[in-house]
Amino acid sequence: MRLEGKIALISGGARGIGAATARLMAREGATVVIGDILQKDGLGTEAEISEAGGEALFVSLDVTSEADWNAAVSVTVTKYGKLDILVNNAGISSRTGVEETTVESWDQVMDINAKGVFLGTKAAIPEMRKAGGGSIINISSIYGIVGSGASSAYHAAKGAVRVFTKAAAIQYAKDGIRVNSVHPGFVDTPMTEAHHGIPSVRQARTSQTPLGRLGVSEDIAPGILYLASDQSSFVTGSELVIDGGMTSS
Ligand code: NAP
Repeated sequence: MRLEGKIALISGGARGIGAATARLMAREGATVVIGDILQKDGLGTEAEISEAGGEALFVSLDVTSEADWNAAVSVTVTKYGKLDILVNNAGISSRTGVEETTVESWDQVMDINAKGVFLGTKAAIPEMRKAGGGSIINISSIYGIVGSGASSAYHAAKGAVRVFTKAAAIQYAKDGIRVNSVHPGFVDTPMTEAHHGIPSVRQARTSQTPLGRLGVSEDIAPGILYLASDQSSFVTGSELVIDGGMTSS
């Protein structure tokens, strides 16, 4: 029970890495608020956690909306009394190079993947300060650390999340609020299902991964749990890479 008594809000928690994190955190004793635009999947994850004996609540949240974030934090604090953990996980992929990326697509990816993290952090900090501290975990990517031939806006957004994390870590350390980033490698989730379903892509990504397989959401969730828990009480501004060795080569 590494999160006994803790209250966690997870954006994009309806499915994929966010849902695996919600299930794991609930098993470790946290009360989990799942924020997502996908109501059906979000309610499904909420029900799954409740049936397993955990405490979960789905809230409708578009991470690009400051009003939605304020409402999600307010519902959390009104119902459960405080907010200890925020996982800024919601994101979308984008696989176009610089010349093929439209301004509309660039703005959408930056809005959801980068501005969403800023808005979530901004909304959570006052409540965490009131609670005497907290832990914010921002889900970036290996593509926030290295480049690739296949994307542009996604790299820009994930790189922004990586360094925004360090700035927030410095600014709020005095309040006992830790802020860290997680950098998954190639992971099978609903987001990557179609892309990883192309045999040549799957083969290429597997061979780029020294451990010889693609990841699953349950490979990433324990890293997020560690950063959320008091076991990482001396860790802030750091980058946890969970990529099967991909960025080491
Ligand atoms: P996923 O399966 O698509 O789950 C992400 C969730 O976020 C979905 O439910 C998605 O809904 C939701 N979402 C999208 N836009 C949103 C918005 N504006 N407001 C609230 N929720 C929104 O993706 P995942 O693979 O688990 O990815 C989770 C995080 O890990 C993302 O930040 C992603 O960039 C990062 N990541 C993933 C991989 C990978 O290989 N899977 C690798 C590195 C980093 P929709 O399905 O409707 O979009």
